[in-house]
Amino acid sequence: MTNKDLANIIFPNITKTVEDYKNMYPKRELKEGEKVTRFAPSPTGFMHLGGFYQAIIDKILAHNSNGIFYLRNEDTDQKREVKEAVELIMNTLNYYDVKPDEYEYNGNIVGNYGPYIQSERKEIYHAFIKYLIEIDRAYPCFCKKEELDQMREKQEKYKARIGYYGRYAKCRNLSIDEIIEKIKNGEEYVIRFKSLGDNEKRFFFDDLVRGTLSLPENDQDIVIMKSNDKLPTYHFAHFVDDFLMGTTHVVRGEEWLPSVPVHVELFKAFDAKPPKYIHTPLIVKKEGNSVRKLSKRKDPEATMSYYEENGYPQEAVIESLMTIINSNYEEWHDKNPEKTYLDFTFSPKKMSSSGGALYDIEKLNNISKNFISKLSATEVYNRLSNWSKKFDEEFYELITKYKDYTINILNIERVQKKPRKDYENYKSIKPQIWYMYDELFDKKEYDFQNITDKNEIKLILNTYVEKYYDESDDKDTWFNKVKELSEELGYASNMKEYKENPDKFKGNVADVSTVIRVAITTSSQTPDLYEILKLLGKEKIIKRINLI
Ligand code: GLU
Repeated sequence: MTNKDLANIIFPNITKTVEDYKNMYPKRELKEGEKVTRFAPSPTGFMHLGGFYQAIIDKILAHNSNGIFYLRNEDTDQKREVKEAVELIMNTLNYYDVKPDEYEYNGNIVGNYGPYIQSERKEIYHAFIKYLIEIDRAYPCFCKKEELDQMREKQEKYKARIGYYGRYAKCRNLSIDEIIEKIKNGEEYVIRFKSLGDNEKRFFFDDLVRGTLSLPENDQDIVIMKSNDKLPTYHFAHFVDDFLMGTTHVVRGEEWLPSVPVHVELFKAFDAKPPKYIHTPLIVKKEGNSVRKLSKRKDPEATMSYYEENGYPQEAVIESLMTIINSNYEEWHDKNPEKTYLDFTFSPKKMSSSGGALYDIEKLNNISKNFISKLSATEVYNRLSNWSKKFDEEFYELITKYKDYTINILNIERVQKKPRKDYENYKSIKPQIWYMYDELFDKKEYDFQNITDKNEIKLILNTYVEKYYDESDDKDTWFNKVKELSEELGYASNMKEYKENPDKFKGNVADVSTVIRVAITTSSQTPDLYEILKLLGKEKIIKRINLI
């Protein structure tokens, strides 16, 4: 019996060869410098910020070079529910307009290198594994879990390296006849890759972020096909796919760095050229004086849905990630405010390579406030409307009913040299403007700040309405009238005078306008009071003052 016989016994129905697949997926015709990147998440049912940040890098690299960015779903761990998770990934990419050029969605394959879902590529992987068995670079391993556990204990005890290699690789030495016998007896097995590496030797490779690195050569006979579902492991599946799909640049988390030697060994076993590697640093956050990994369990901002639920503009989320992707991004963006992140030339060398990439939600809040402050009121309205439709239906109905009124509210202190920066996301708008809607207005415990006497408060408000309030006043007239009101009641209308002689007055014009502001809005901090009064109109104003 030969290796070929063994390969046929293990894969009797696999008739296509590696050559056939190479012909089916011919080399991409790329012009000089064009890059092919892929985002290859394992569909786990949520999308981590770290995954999305890799997808952005993939997208820019392809975009910068006029290349291809594709989405591949790595679902060979079938314990997980896949369909919805795949949808979630695609929806997130679409939501941020980080669309892949090639992908598979809802049974539709876009691109010539699919299927792009690994569980649908089983036959392809089997053909590649069959070939490895034929050339004696892969073999079935019948070791049971207990045996492997014992072996590990022994290795720990004798301080040997852990793993299945050299003299520990027991099944490596089985004869073909022994193997066939075991298979015929129905013994369970996995398939292992037969490494030719020597752990005493160094393996050199380039990582585009960190430069040339060296690790010991791989000598582990890693599992490439699992026993139960006969699906390949990540190591093997990603290699076959990156090879056939013509990936030129692999962008993935730094946790994969130690696997590069074995991955390159797989490429070499097929005489294939390995891709270039960009291992991205972990996203970390500050906690007290230390820094730790962003965790799905502890940090809501680790999950992409957080940003959608809170209504952060997509552009702001991407920008906040860009600032941790490349250290020179902010400067570039300040100089090129009209351009988008896709116009930026990403450089792997400018990624942080030690200590992780520090993410800070406060930074996002600032970026987002800035971004929203620059939009037109109508644009903010449209975005708020889309957001609230999904996340705050009551508010959605209200702003739809009072569309123009709402746009006017959103326009307060917007069209000016330095627009107000008070909305960090769409969710934060309602808590700041709710009082503009009678439907939401609610009598509360008012805090009139410096003036506390109820009769004095009533006097100020009544005098204001009866003598000084006129709906048609322009802003200057309005303000002068508030000053006159102050003077009439014994408050300083001039702050300088007040400061020089505070005892002469009951208070000052700011105290008086605070009383009006609080009576009308319940809040002592609002945008321009004149604008608010104008939008509310007489009827609402009088109604609110009468509540006091
Ligand atoms: N499926 C792997 C993961 O989610 C992808 C690693 C890679 O991009 O190669 O970690």
